Amino acid sequence: MPCYRCGTRQADPEAGKSSPWRRGVIREHQVLICPACQPSALADLSRCARCGSMHLIRRLDQVECLDCRLTRDAEPEPPPAPAPGAPAAGGGDLAAEVARALERLLGGRGASRGG
Ligand SMILES: [Zn+2]
Ligand SMILES: [Zn+2]
Repeated sequence: MPCYRCGTRQADPEAGKSSPWRRGVIREHQVLICPACQPSALADLSRCARCGSMHLIRRLDQVECLDCRLTRDAEPEPPPAPAPGAPAAGGGDLAAEVARALERLLGGRGASRGG
């Protein structure tokens, strides 16, 4: 998973060292933050409601604090906006039926009479 801000990919940490990358949760999404972006990411990161830690992980539909183990339900994703120009349900057949009836009425008249 690349850094959520700059897209840098995480390199393997040196042997014996833990990775300087951090995990966090931003807008209910699990993210990875490279060392360069961490100062800027602080403002974005969600915090634990109980202990204020930013050491959170997202799992399934819950967000868990790794420091105090407080678990809460994640906010649901907002429903996607309906696509513009979506087909309206129903009505097509009736309109075609009426058009055919009108055609018959209008077309039936005017068989040569008079002249
Ligand atoms: Zn970054
Ligand atoms: Zn906590």
